Amino acid sequence: MNPSNTPTVTEKPARPSPQGNALSAPYWEAAAQGRLLLQQCADCGKVRHYPRLLCDGCFSERTQWTPASGRGTVHSWTTCHHAFHPGFAAELPYVLVTVDLAEGVRALGRWRGAGLAIGGPVQAHFEQRAEGPELYFTSVMP
Ligand SMILES: [Zn+2]
Repeated sequence: MNPSNTPTVTEKPARPSPQGNALSAPYWEAAAQGRLLLQQCADCGKVRHYPRLLCDGCFSERTQWTPASGRGTVHSWTTCHHAFHPGFAAELPYVLVTVDLAEGVRALGRWRGAGLAIGGPVQAHFEQRAEGPELYFTSVMP
């Protein structure tokens, strides 16, 4: 019985699922298979990430997808102490890292493990979670 007539929350809120669209569908389909794909201009070859409609090098709309090595170096990171969605509250604190990928673009993901350092070599991975694939990075010993 709840005397205050306030709903009692007994279940953990679910993490939100990634919301892809037609533009990013190839990225998410590959991620679900554990592969990191990057969008590439089919005219000038410039790689871009996140997926966009136009190439910022030549303004072409022609796109192809290219497999990424997943290798990169740490650009920066932040430790999250506040959950901006209640589905992440149980995981606090967690680290988000921005990585300069070998292909020349920057990606954001979770950090796992030890050895986090600016400029440190990393490798991308995907974890297949119920709500969708999650990109994370780990340190690679040089
Ligand atoms: Zn281009």
